[in-house]
Amino acid sequence: MDTCPRCRSADPVERAHAIVGRGTRPLSGLLCLPAPPPMPGRIKAYRACITVGLLLFLAGLGSTSDSENQRDAVAVQVGAAMSTIGLLVLIVGLILLASSGEVRRQWRTAGWVYQTVRRLWPLLDYCHYCNLVFMAGGTFGVDPVHTVRFLWDAADHTLKVGAPRPPGM
Ligand SMILES: [Zn+2]
Repeated sequence: MDTCPRCRSADPVERAHAIVGRGTRPLSGLLCLPAPPPMPGRIKAYRACITVGLLLFLAGLGSTSDSENQRDAVAVQVGAAMSTIGLLVLIVGLILLASSGEVRRQWRTAGWVYQTVRRLWPLLDYCHYCNLVFMAGGTFGVDPVHTVRFLWDAADHTLKVGAPRPPGM
């Protein structure tokens, strides 16, 4: 049985996920499993550019090579313009991708930390007497309002990767 690092008692200690399962507010709201780190805007931007650019390029290429359209000069021009714009957007996406190495590395690291947060989450304990959140077997705890940051720091400490905290944590 887990004991509280402050009062050294096991009786008032309960697993955080059990409290969340009962949905006892406001405590269950504080003890909830953190959300995964949000995708950085730069990664969203290059993914969108590559997808949209590729679609436009292929659609434009398809319409210019269509034999029905080839007799229609306007359709050919529109298709060629779509291909050109698509290619430009695709190039912008690839430039963003090439220049976002550090952002991608940080996001990947944050993803690893988050995987560990999920593994640690079932081991999170709460002492009803001390109003303290702590890891099973841990030597210290924090107020439940710091649950998200506490889990993140515990996971980061486990992995020793020094991941930056997601915004709002
Ligand atoms: Zn206690």
